[in-house]
Amino acid sequence: MGSKFKELVRARMAKTNEGWQTAERHVRAQAGGAGGPPPGGGSAQEPWIAELLKQLHLSTTFGMLVGRVPATGAGVNFALAQAQANELATHPVYFAESGSASTTITGDLTAITRDQVSALVRAGAANADEVQMIRSGNYEGTTFSERCESCEGWIWCGDGEHEGACVCGQLYRVSFDAMLGELFSLRGFHCCVDCGVEWKLDPAGAGLDPGRNWNEWQWQCQKCMDITPKTPEQLEAMHPFKRRRYRAMMMGGQQAPL
Ligand SMILES: [Zn+2]
Ligand SMILES: [Zn+2]
Repeated sequence: MGSKFKELVRARMAKTNEGWQTAERHVRAQAGGAGGPPPGGGSAQEPWIAELLKQLHLSTTFGMLVGRVPATGAGVNFALAQAQANELATHPVYFAESGSASTTITGDLTAITRDQVSALVRAGAANADEVQMIRSGNYEGTTFSERCESCEGWIWCGDGEHEGACVCGQLYRVSFDAMLGELFSLRGFHCCVDCGVEWKLDPAGAGLDPGRNWNEWQWQCQKCMDITPKTPEQLEAMHPFKRRRYRAMMMGGQQAPL
């Protein structure tokens, strides 16, 4: 997806209040498919991509995250970490990964090049520079939520793979290929975008929190709705992450009560 395409989708979302997926579908249809094949689409794949998919245990490129390994070192030994960072800065390493495998940690996978990263993005893989990849899965009827990496707002993964944009504008993709252990690092329910309180279907009718939906995947509880900042001063007094989220809500032309 080009940034021009995303711009069109955002413009449509602002105008129509549609969710990311719906707006994207319309823009794609209008462009006559100019936005490229849908992620993981069924177009004929180059053999090396098919092979990489197999190695990463994926059936389509939807769950593939690609990019450049950041030039930062890790570990307790400062000199070693520094050397590692320098090495990555001068000799960039690129990666492709799924929920269960990565070209940079699995010894028998071949390293990929910068050109291959571009080709994979064209083939529907998510570009790590632009898209947050959230890995969820199906586990005994549980659905999960994960934090947005830009504003720390909670995003509900729902019960199927999808793409979207957080209220702050961060693009993300939810792939259903997390390893079981990783699943439990997510929050095990559908929760409020702000405070993380659980959203409950209450069959007894004993006071279901109405709140409001910012979009299909982000619900805000009544309590958080009530403390939505009303003035620029209140906005400025918020935690920077939260401020980022509320500012986007205010500016995004959504139904913010301001
Ligand atoms: Zn966000
Ligand atoms: Zn809340």
